[in-house]
Amino acid sequence: MAGKLDLISKCIRTFPDFHTKGIPFKDIFPVLKDPKALAAVTDLFEEQVRRAYPQVDLIVGLDARGFLFGPLLAQRLGVGFAPIRKKGKLPGPTLSVAYSLEYAKAEAEMQEDAVSAGKKVLIVDDLLATGGTLYAACELIKRQKAEVLGCLVVELKYLNGSEKLQSTPVFSLIQY
Ligand code: AMP
Repeated sequence: MAGKLDLISKCIRTFPDFHTKGIPFKDIFPVLKDPKALAAVTDLFEEQVRRAYPQVDLIVGLDARGFLFGPLLAQRLGVGFAPIRKKGKLPGPTLSVAYSLEYAKAEAEMQEDAVSAGKKVLIVDDLLATGGTLYAACELIKRQKAEVLGCLVVELKYLNGSEKLQSTPVFSLIQY
C-alpha cells in the first residue's frame, strides 16, 4: 500500500495560483500518464470498497476528473457508473443542486433515471477541497431516494471539506 501511495503522490503536482490567487491547484493528470500510478489508484479504491462497501450498486463520478477514475473502479467492481455534471451538460430530465467551490459558484446536475430508489452509491472525485461539490452530489443522490455509502477522493485536508459532509464517510487516498 505505501509503495502505491508513494507512486501516486509523486505524480500529483501543485501549481500555485492557478485559476485564483492563493489556490494551490493540484494537477492529477500525470497520474494518468503513468499506467502503474493509475492502476495503483484503482487498486487502492477497489481494496477500500471491497473491505468497507461490498454492497455497492453504483459508482457516481463528478465532472470532470471523477470521470477518469470512476468508470475504471466501477468496471473492476462489476457495477455501473453514472455521472454528475455541471449545469446544462446532461440531456433529458435532470435534478440540480447549487453549491460553492473553492474558487467559483456552480450547479451540479444528475439525470433523473441515473439511480433508482434504494440503490447504494459511492461517489468518486479527484479532490475534496471545501466539500461543496461532494455535498451537492450527496444531495442529488439522496433526492432520488438512493443511499450514499461514502466518497472516494484525494483530500485537501486543511480546508476541512469532510466536515461539510457530516455523517457521510470519506476515504481519502492522500491528504494534503
Ligand atoms: P470543493 O467543492 O471545494 O470540494 O472542490 C472540489 C472540486 O473542485 C473537485 O472536483 C476538484 O476537481 C476541484 N478543485 C477544488 N480545489 C482544487 C484544487 N486546489 N486543485 C485542483 N482541483 C480543485
